[in-house]
Amino acid sequence: MTTFKMPNTHSVAFTCDDCGTSLDTERRDFNTARDVLRSEGWQTKPAPGGAWRHLCPDCRD
Ligand SMILES: [Zn+2]
Repeated sequence: MTTFKMPNTHSVAFTCDDCGTSLDTERRDFNTARDVLRSEGWQTKPAPGGAWRHLCPDCRD
């Protein structure tokens, strides 16, 4: 799971685990941020060890 908070706005952002591009959802609530991520075409996949992988529209299956 590659998530981080934007330093200035404290909104939730995601980084693609494949190419490293990031998306600032401009939302502070994680669940809302995940909805934004999904609507932007990103994919969330379970990874070994109970983690999650986030893939941008260019890297998703
Ligand atoms: Zn990517």
